[in-house]
Amino acid sequence: MIIAVASGKGGTGKTTVTASLATVWDGPVLAVDLDVEEPNLHLFLQPTIEGSAPAQLTVPVVDEARCTYCGACADLCQFKAISVMGQLLLTFPEMCHGCGGCLAVCPEQAISPGQRELGEISWGKTGGGGFLSGRLRLGEAMSPPLMRQVKARLNQMLAAGGDAIIDAPPGVSCPAVNAVIDSDVILLVTEPTPFGFHDFRLAWEAFASLGKPMGTVVNRAGLGHEAIYRFCEEKGLPILAEIPYDRVIAEAYARGRIVAEVSAELQETFVSLLSQVRDLAEPGCPGQAAHA
Ligand code: SF4
Ligand code: SF4
Repeated sequence: MIIAVASGKGGTGKTTVTASLATVWDGPVLAVDLDVEEPNLHLFLQPTIEGSAPAQLTVPVVDEARCTYCGACADLCQFKAISVMGQLLLTFPEMCHGCGGCLAVCPEQAISPGQRELGEISWGKTGGGGFLSGRLRLGEAMSPPLMRQVKARLNQMLAAGGDAIIDAPPGVSCPAVNAVIDSDVILLVTEPTPFGFHDFRLAWEAFASLGKPMGTVVNRAGLGHEAIYRFCEEKGLPILAEIPYDRVIAEAYARGRIVAEVSAELQETFVSLLSQVRDLAEPGCPGQAAHA
């Protein structure tokens, strides 16, 4: 089972929910940080890093001595990462998605594969399970290619069995959808404020079309804005857990502590959340219709 923990905006507590769920998990589990632009799951889980590898993207390198400037590569590239103007050929590696199409289409075999550094993938162990994370290189704009490589390693690591909890990037853009698309259950973390509700609704609209079971975790419950509760009731979206708006929890969070370890009551909240997530993943569970 793969659980994706997502949110419509940053700062809702998505990462602390991921870390807490990983801590109370009742079997082998891999905690995965796919928020590659700002990975911070490690701050909570304090993993022992056992290995890392650079993540690279294959980009075209053109041998102009062989090039006839036919333009086939530029015509094919939907990302405008290669351009031919008369007897001038330009490549824009930062716009290349590494699909390899231009290499395949060149009739002169004038294009060979080069490498562009995307970032780094690291893996290791936490107290109770495995850990995997991607970190985008400073200045790199495209996160989906790195996320694909982290997910490829995730699939390798899961081949031995176990579950995974993904800390997805916030928002509803391409990286966020990319992070949740292979999950079995999506947990939407939100907070009961006008901004929280606005972004929560956008996230629901973006992810509902994926047809996956979804549930909600309300963080900082008690702030007073009720629209999220009405919306969830209207859409049949179950609220699986509420984390109270509480100074002790806020202080623990600021110190990088795992919320599930703050008190027995909070631990019970996350144990119950885990049980409900498992139920949601069951085929035929009523919650599976929540996105409809
Ligand atoms: S497809 Fe090959 S030969 Fe044609 S313009 Fe591109 S690099 Fe040059
Ligand atoms: S590898 Fe794909 S994205 Fe990159 S320049 Fe070639 S066709 Fe365009």
